[in-house]
Amino acid sequence: MNSYFLADKLHNDGNLTDNEFLKILYETDSKFNDYLAELARKKRENYYGKDVYVRGLIEFTNYCKNNCYYCGIRRGNKNARRYRLTKEEILSCVRMGHGLGFRTFVLQGGEDPYFTDEILTDIVKSVKNLCPDSAVTLSVGEREFESYEKLFKAGADRYLLRHETADADHYAMLHPADMDFYNRIKCLKNLKQIGYQVGAGMMIGSPFQTKEHLLKDIRFLQELKPEMVGIGPFIPHRDTDFKAKAAGALSDVLKLLSITRLILPACLLPATTALGTIHPKGREMGILAGANVVMPNLSPKGVRGKYLLYDNKICTGDEAAECVNCMKNRMANIGYNVVVSRGDYFGWGKNVTIHG
Ligand code: SAH
Repeated sequence: MNSYFLADKLHNDGNLTDNEFLKILYETDSKFNDYLAELARKKRENYYGKDVYVRGLIEFTNYCKNNCYYCGIRRGNKNARRYRLTKEEILSCVRMGHGLGFRTFVLQGGEDPYFTDEILTDIVKSVKNLCPDSAVTLSVGEREFESYEKLFKAGADRYLLRHETADADHYAMLHPADMDFYNRIKCLKNLKQIGYQVGAGMMIGSPFQTKEHLLKDIRFLQELKPEMVGIGPFIPHRDTDFKAKAAGALSDVLKLLSITRLILPACLLPATTALGTIHPKGREMGILAGANVVMPNLSPKGVRGKYLLYDNKICTGDEAAECVNCMKNRMANIGYNVVVSRGDYFGWGKNVTIHG
């Protein structure tokens, strides 16, 4: 069957058979991606119009107890200059971000054992006290059910934990033996059960990834139904085992963003910084492929250059205010509007059913 016909079918039904998905994953015609993007844009506009939600990203620690083979802040990287922000530093980022119009703050970091439940719940509560009108998103890796529950009760609204790959064997090629695919999936299910808006996701073009793996990712996303999906290119980091591996291709990332929009029509889908790193207009292209979120960096300038998951990361030298203005202009230039809003999942808390 013709790929364009399959694109229409995916747009209408929100689903395809395995073989049909593989056919479009293998499709190399660049015009096909444009067609898929057009359908994805239509779909996102049914739910979110031309609004783009912004999240203020605060990278609050680059200490990490894990040793993921792809990641620049892995514990084995002796060249990483480690830092950890204090609660006061985090709050001052939030205060500044709120003044700039942010209503979601994403606290992201390595898995840093310094941030016990006690310390992290205190930080979450303090952010919510300072900005009761704003959402807090956490992205600090795998923790126990009870820990996720305490953080939720402290006021955290959302949690980002990319599944990285839905294939257990592929997972084992990207992570050392002390990391367990099934535990990561369990964490995602726990987060859902507790009541977070949950984000899963994967790198595109990660080493050893095949189209069949991407099909598994699609099936996994359909089953989990996360409210958010983080998709960006793998980019090598010079101090990792994968330093000589190729980065993910722009066209593959855009295709997966469009497919994700079509299978999970109301999802919150960022055009990531990594996408902006592999192409100067990557984030604009991401929005035009169906994404509806951008995440400018609010971390203090002094630590920006130290939170390096991959090489050549953009915006490491800019002030937050510059990043926000740059982002507003970039979005306005393609006909989209950055809005001042928490930007929750469509109908969140209102008992709304999402139809395709
Ligand atoms: N430690 C937390 C969050 C920080 S890492 C966690 O485990 O969830 C955030 C995301 O960055 C990871 O989920 C991964 O998908 C992505 N990432 C890490 N290294 C990368 C690389 N080299 N290229 C592209 N993305 C990378």
